[in-house]
Amino acid sequence: MAPIDKPSTSKYDYICIGGGSGGVASSRRAASYGKKVAVIEVSPNLGGTCVNVGCVPKKIMWHAADLADRLRHAADGYRFKGVPTPEFDWKTFKPQRDAYIRRLNKIYETNLEKEHVDYYSGFARLTSASSVEITPPDGGEKYTLHADNICVATGGRPTIPSDDVIPGASLGIDSDGFFDLAEQPKRVAVVGAGYIAVELAGVLHTLGTETHLIIRQDKVLRTFDPIIQDTLTPWMEHTGINIHKKTNVVKVTGQAGQELTVHFDTGKTVVVDCLLWAIGRHANTEGVGLEELGVELDKRGDVVVDQYQNSTVKGITSIGDVQGKALLTPVAIAAGRRLSNRLFGPEKFKDDKLDYTNIPTVVFSHPTIGTVGLTEAEAREIYGDAVKIYKSSFRSLYFSMINEDHKEPTVYKLIVVGEEEKVVGVHIIGQGSDEILQGFAVAVKMGARKRDLDDTVAIHPTSAEELVTLR
Ligand code: FAD
Ligand code: NDP
Repeated sequence: MAPIDKPSTSKYDYICIGGGSGGVASSRRAASYGKKVAVIEVSPNLGGTCVNVGCVPKKIMWHAADLADRLRHAADGYRFKGVPTPEFDWKTFKPQRDAYIRRLNKIYETNLEKEHVDYYSGFARLTSASSVEITPPDGGEKYTLHADNICVATGGRPTIPSDDVIPGASLGIDSDGFFDLAEQPKRVAVVGAGYIAVELAGVLHTLGTETHLIIRQDKVLRTFDPIIQDTLTPWMEHTGINIHKKTNVVKVTGQAGQELTVHFDTGKTVVVDCLLWAIGRHANTEGVGLEELGVELDKRGDVVVDQYQNSTVKGITSIGDVQGKALLTPVAIAAGRRLSNRLFGPEKFKDDKLDYTNIPTVVFSHPTIGTVGLTEAEAREIYGDAVKIYKSSFRSLYFSMINEDHKEPTVYKLIVVGEEEKVVGVHIIGQGSDEILQGFAVAVKMGARKRDLDDTVAIHPTSAEELVTLR
């Protein structure tokens, strides 16, 4: 279904601004209750960050990198003959990846159509608490839609330092630019220490790019439990990523698309073909008309919402990245669906809302990371001496056949509290952690105690069994 050119009606029950993870999920759920619903998306491609420049193309690239490792392991440790040294053909892979994403965009359109959600293309701006003005992409005539319930689901975008602060900063790209790269850079400098920096540096390095990671402190993923930081940072270095610690970029010289020199405050420089900023994201609120209507934004610029996703203006709600809490696709989807349940669903859903505690999350590093619940520091702050730690560090069986130098670490940590040893945190790093975590997240959400894990018979031989046999 192509977007609607001109509305046949302007009156809706519900309008979602933004056709990303949150907006699409919320609008479809509202329409499933028989409501008249519109979604407005400014990008020509539906699906938002996750589908177009986030989770999906990122995970495909992670799989490519993982395969490169497996091919090396096949030849080196598992004694397969005839395995060539992996050489990734980025140039032909990118169009293939893009074609898959275009298919997903179409599926998103079809799903809206199936649910009878009206899809409009253009930039949306609130003109009152119940009206949204749309500027079509071709600059055509503006028009206005009305609804008593409007959800702001405009997501966010990458932050790049201004050239005033760091001269030449704009010679670099961000994660959106990473997915535009037609060729694999030979040398890259990635700035940042969070999810995106770690994941994209990992992919590039594993696929053979000379990779420099520039971090302000001395560890990556500093908001994660120390076992994650302390395991991943040295392992990344061990594999050959050049981590420049306690380092800030002060200047970038060169020409876009050509060789760049990145100057550090330590006096050092690196010469690369690509500079990638991964220093965080900020909310898409500019021009949306929020502040004019009195919708409060916090000092980071995120929409302030209560536990029911209500903004400070009646009738305007907000979900997903633009409200700044837990910037993850399943969070945007879950919050959006629950919001529509509450607004338009049956009586049993009249208080429906997302519980933002114990949200599991995974980092697609090499090896992967999974984490749910409190870090040790957070647990000690809340529960003090009642906190007990169970920990295990080992090499998974898969690596028994692999050269010592390439044996990835696995480290697991359970954080439990009180006499009943309620599990309040699970932190795992090691091969397969991305797939292992989901089930343990269910257990934590259900209030599992250490003895519930102990009572569960192990599955052997796996890495995950360590989590039910910790002593
Ligand atoms: P978005 O998906 O960003 O959607 C917002 C939409 O609103 C966009 O399509 C935008 O064009 C549109 N819009 C903005 N302003 C307007 C306007 N005024 N009018 C009309 N439309 C507008 N999360 C995970 O859970 N797992 C991952 O592995 C993961 N990997 C990621 C990797 C990267 C590189 C990035 C950047 C993010 C990743 N995320 C991941 C995070 C995830 O993509 C986001 O949390 C998720 O997309 C948020 O959904 P959303 O609906 O809030 O916003
Ligand atoms: P993050 O918030 O994860 O990390 C950004 C990091 O960059 C900060 O933690 C900080 O680390 C560092 N930083 C901040 N400012 C600067 C600066 N001026 N110079 C150098 N370093 C700086 O943001 P990302 O952009 O990586 O990701 C945004 C969000 O998207 C994530 O928080 C996550 O919610 C989501 N996401 C999820 C993924 C997944 O689920 N697998 C994958 C990718 C993104 P420090 O303070 O240590 O310097």
